Amino acid sequence: MTPFKAPVDDILFTLRACGAEGLDSWDDDLMTQIAEAFASFAEAELAPLDEPSDKQGARFENGRVRMPDGVRAAIDAYAEQGWCGLTAPEEFGGQGLDGLALTITSEIFSGANHAMQMVTGLLPGAIRVLQNFGSDAQQAALIPELAGGERLSTMALTEPGAGSDLGRIRTRATPSGDGWSITGEKIFISNGDQDIRNKILHLVLARTGAADSGVKGLSLFACLSDRADGSRNPVKVTRIEEKMGLHGSPTCQMAFDGAEAQLIGEEGAGLKGMFSMMNHARIGVALQGVAHATRAHAIAAAYTAERQQGRGADGKPVTLDQHPNLAHMLAEARAISLLGRAITHTAVIELERGANPALVDFLTPVAKHFCSKGGSRAADLGMQCLGGYGYLNEYRVEQTWRDARITRIYEGATAIHALTIAGRMAQSPAGDAFANFWAARVDPADLAIWQEGRAALTNPPEQAEDFMALTEWLLCRALAPLFDGHAGAPAVARYIDRQAYLGPLSRDRLAG
Ligand SMILES: Cc1cc2nc3c(=O)[nH]c(=O)nc-3n(C[C@H](O)[C@H](O)[C@H](O)COP(=O)(O)OP(=O)(O)OC[C@H]3O[C@@H](n4cnc5c(N)ncnc54)[C@H](O)[C@@H]3O)c2cc1C
Repeated sequence: MTPFKAPVDDILFTLRACGAEGLDSWDDDLMTQIAEAFASFAEAELAPLDEPSDKQGARFENGRVRMPDGVRAAIDAYAEQGWCGLTAPEEFGGQGLDGLALTITSEIFSGANHAMQMVTGLLPGAIRVLQNFGSDAQQAALIPELAGGERLSTMALTEPGAGSDLGRIRTRATPSGDGWSITGEKIFISNGDQDIRNKILHLVLARTGAADSGVKGLSLFACLSDRADGSRNPVKVTRIEEKMGLHGSPTCQMAFDGAEAQLIGEEGAGLKGMFSMMNHARIGVALQGVAHATRAHAIAAAYTAERQQGRGADGKPVTLDQHPNLAHMLAEARAISLLGRAITHTAVIELERGANPALVDFLTPVAKHFCSKGGSRAADLGMQCLGGYGYLNEYRVEQTWRDARITRIYEGATAIHALTIAGRMAQSPAGDAFANFWAARVDPADLAIWQEGRAALTNPPEQAEDFMALTEWLLCRALAPLFDGHAGAPAVARYIDRQAYLGPLSRDRLAG
């Protein structure tokens, strides 16, 4: 098996190339140190648990979730080294760093061990929600615990009748004493329980309005697994799901049975609060896709450079990577990883810059869409490059393939993001912000093709995927020149060349 090697140089290269150096907060030496320190930790302590955790899986025993062997010790080390509070304010015990540091560590963690990354992956988003919407008392009580890794966090939205359509949520919250009481059932909640920490903050979306109040009747709650007196709040895992990948990450069905909770922010503004967490999480999922694409390429490149099959034009034996079809597949996987990272880094840098929120609103779903599809595609290409060995356990590309697949479903399935872009964003100020941002950075002829497609958007549900394909085509062409002189430039050029038809084709399809 190819050992996991964190792509530190590529990550730092892309951050710099996408404009991080122009931010006041950017400190090149510090970011390099963070990347190198976290890479060493991930390579030595997180990646080696990826395969055994996948094989052992999380288990449900006597009403509690048991994590795979070694996970608790690794999370303890992660917390002790201060990674849980990387972006938490210093006054609450965090490191006070910006989202770029988190971008570096999130990608490396996901590449080393996606299932384990889910254990702590929601902490920065939960901290952000409390900073933005929590009361002073909630912030003081919870942020230090989250930043120190004493308390883990979940995000509890999905229900049997409410997946993409959160307006169907039925879990109820009613006033009770000084706080609220939550009753209902949630499904698919990642890390709804584990045996790493007893303290969990469940961020729950529950209905406070009338049954037919849709998303306007939803409010956001902090529901703790534990009460102030140390007893357990009535929040129970009732089962964990069996699934194709992410075996080390428990996906929990949960019952809230009159659980004590506190309102976060205003009543009826739950979706706004939850979205500030989900946008964070969507960038995290985009980085999971980038991590899988990078890993799949690394395994396939190492394997195909070693194995000899067939002969070259001169009749001599050649390694697999010398055959044009394999070279194309390797180049596509590499380009997806490099361009996906560049799209995501552009979104994160603009988020940190803070000057163009409409652009960030547009770029975030596109990054999630491109990278989650790209991670799956690259894993599939990687498997094909290895032939029969790709399908076996031995080289682990099959685990990448299985683990990558969920990224196209959770945090908003790909279709939902395509609909958001085509239906709500394209012809709004966010669409203008996107066009204006790239106007100075792309070939005017390419931007004109995108604008023609945008003008032809008359039926978003039918046209959403074509418009997303057009948008991703434009972004890839805009970002490709950043890789001039980089070792991946030939792969990017080959990918751009082979995808050249996609923009005009999508424009023509949109125009009917
Ligand atoms: C491993 C795993 C971990 C998860 N972790 C969490 C978690 O921690 N917290 C949490 O709350 N949830 C979690 N989820 C749930 C996840 O977010 C949902 O599965 C996802 O939102 C999709 O909802 P659904 O499964 O009900 O699918 P549905 O909403 O039923 O969608 C099914 C298909 O129809 C499409 N579709 C749906 N509506 C439309 C529409 N209006 N127009 C066009 N197409 C549409 C979707 O794109 C999808 O392809 C997790 C799920 C899994 C499998």
